[in-house]
Amino acid sequence: MFELDIEMLKEQGLQLVDSAKKTAQDLADKGKNKLDLLNQQARLSKAQRQLGALVYSLHKAGEENPALVEKYINAVAEVEKAIEEIKANMTDDERAEVEAQETAETEEAPAEEPAAEKTVESEETIEEEPVHLRGETKICPVCKAEVDGDAMFCNHCGAQL
Ligand SMILES: [Zn+2]
Repeated sequence: MFELDIEMLKEQGLQLVDSAKKTAQDLADKGKNKLDLLNQQARLSKAQRQLGALVYSLHKAGEENPALVEKYINAVAEVEKAIEEIKANMTDDERAEVEAQETAETEEAPAEEPAAEKTVESEETIEEEPVHLRGETKICPVCKAEVDGDAMFCNHCGAQL
């Protein structure tokens, strides 16, 4: 739909400057929706990964921490809601485009695994990469416990990080 409008404007020239500005604004809004959606989807997969890792580590240790699990479940639900709201603001075309990308990304995901291992293997020699997003730990500001670098909540005191 937008592509068609742009072609029309190109043909009709400066008479439609105001309309062209409006189209540019529409395109900017479209880009913002997509960017917001990508950010929220990144947050969602991080929260889901943390929830999965937490449940697994609790199970492995024979422990339970329903309060902390609940916090992650709520965080996941909150992000899912935000994603639904963004999608509700999109046109059918935008939604179809984004959903097609989601499918493509899911299918490509396993290919990233070997690259991650390679990075860890040569960690000490790579100086141009100061921030290691995976496998890094951080200190909880409340109880000073060492927690996973991606953790959204401290797994000792439950503080939001
Ligand atoms: Zn803590």
